[in-house]
Amino acid sequence: MKNEKALVVFSGGQDSTTCLIWAKKEFKEVEAVTFNYGQRHSEELVCASEIAQELEVPHHVLDMSLLNQLSPSALTRNEEITEKEGELPSTFVPGRNLLFLSFAGVLAKNIGAVHIVTGVCETDFSGYPDCRDMFVKSFNVTFNLAMDEGYVVHTPLMWLDKEATWKWADEMGMLQYVREKTLTCYNGIRGDGCGTCPSCKLRSKGLTAYLSSENGGAEL
Ligand code: ZN
Repeated sequence: MKNEKALVVFSGGQDSTTCLIWAKKEFKEVEAVTFNYGQRHSEELVCASEIAQELEVPHHVLDMSLLNQLSPSALTRNEEITEKEGELPSTFVPGRNLLFLSFAGVLAKNIGAVHIVTGVCETDFSGYPDCRDMFVKSFNVTFNLAMDEGYVVHTPLMWLDKEATWKWADEMGMLQYVREKTLTCYNGIRGDGCGTCPSCKLRSKGLTAYLSSENGGAEL
């Protein structure tokens, strides 16, 4: 795969930044695509652009504000994010990942990339059916039929939990970078974030678990 080109679906968060770092090691050429869908915090887009620039990756930002016409949700409006057990979180935009992957796929064709990398994950399953492994495999087949070509969709984080994702970043020598530069907080605060939103809690739980483990102990 070293001599081929990859397009990474990139939000500037922990997961997709870790995927971007991996892709840079794995492929000859890498570009990144970020979707602008009226995120609650435009800081997300700034953050993604800065990381792409620092990692010297050409960066595409696609306007997906039409998502708001389809499905206004808490992620794009200033409503409180709620999560109730057994229900999808209020951030849920039905089919979002399906749309993102489709647009990324068409962009991949235009830039001559045959690999598409996405940081979706089934382990910290948040209820998004189009982030499941079965869906991504099915999408890969459908997309190749649509294009009549052999694209490969990579999901390197699919079976990793947050602790394992931190470990992987550390193994690639980029734990501190990912920790400081990325933004996953629902309140738009980079790095360790606000510490209280569901996303921060998940991220810090994984980091604490990794740092207190045998391998991560040196970072304490
Ligand atoms: Zn937060």
